[in-house]
Amino acid sequence: MIDRRKFITKTALGTVAVGTLYSCVDNGIKPHDPQQKNGAVKEGEKKVKKPVLISTWNHGLPANEEAWKTLKNGGSGLDAVEAGVKVAEADPKVSSVGYGGWPDRDGKVTLDACIMDHEFNCGSVAFLQNIKHPISVARKVMEKTPHIMLVGEGAKQFALEQGFKEENLLTPEAEKAYREWLQKSEYKPVINIENHDTISMLAIDENGDLSGACTTSGAAWKVHGRVGDSPIIGAGLFLDNEVGSAAATGLGEAVIRTSGSAMVVELMRQGKSPYEACKEIVERIHKIYRNRPDLEYLQIGFIALNKQGEYGAYCLRPGFNYAVYDEEHGNRLIDGEYEIS
Ligand code: ASP
Repeated sequence: MIDRRKFITKTALGTVAVGTLYSCVDNGIKPHDPQQKNGAVKEGEKKVKKPVLISTWNHGLPANEEAWKTLKNGGSGLDAVEAGVKVAEADPKVSSVGYGGWPDRDGKVTLDACIMDHEFNCGSVAFLQNIKHPISVARKVMEKTPHIMLVGEGAKQFALEQGFKEENLLTPEAEKAYREWLQKSEYKPVINIENHDTISMLAIDENGDLSGACTTSGAAWKVHGRVGDSPIIGAGLFLDNEVGSAAATGLGEAVIRTSGSAMVVELMRQGKSPYEACKEIVERIHKIYRNRPDLEYLQIGFIALNKQGEYGAYCLRPGFNYAVYDEEHGNRLIDGEYEIS
């Protein structure tokens, strides 16, 4: 098993663009400020911070970089989150998203993704195979069909009709990892390592509009046909442009069970800050799992961004980090605060 720290270093080196200096520390910024802890700031009381990007894990850094460029070139928040997460989808070294993603127990790479804009438009694909950019297919579902979600063969057929190319997404490295796993064929959703690390990205753009994207190859070695939280609007991703946005990473079953991202947004609607809202849902999940044998393997992280451009995150255990990009502090990686060690 690859040590998490080594894995982060390797992945960061593998994905960070040459010439760009990323900080792996907070640059003095707290993931939340005390004012936020006392509840969300009402619009009008404080200047809205925008644009702001927040995305999960260290592969969020290069993703944010691309998304920021897209915003600065006049792209919408939706364009930005799509362009951003595509960086992770295309990176063969990111073993939990898109090309290079680790396969299911039958050796097939199956992908889940969803996207949502500020007008409740959303699109999603699940159990999609052999298409490198599921997030772009999800956007097409949103824009070209009266539906929200397409799965499996139907999703692939739709993608091909839309001009996407079929390709093999199983890299030699992923195949090697699969062959090693096959020797024991033991499924354990081991926390905080390369077998599941979805990229979710939330944006508030120059207009103050929210958007979000979420894409993953899901849990490695999962049962063929398993779909996680990531393509499910309300679970892996949710936003309401009047309130805020939220997204999840970690064990998808726990997020689906609690309608995680939708709940984070509802808590922000009730006045909680992004940090407080994420924390409350993590605590709820922890309570549900307290007496379950799978608590041992459970990791869950939420990120949230509200209508004022304030962000926050919270996770169950140490090891989760997220990338934030804003005008004031640039792009940086922040360790998530956690519930239990
Ligand atoms: N939430 C994803 C899933 O369960 C995996 C992850 O983010 O770690 O498919």
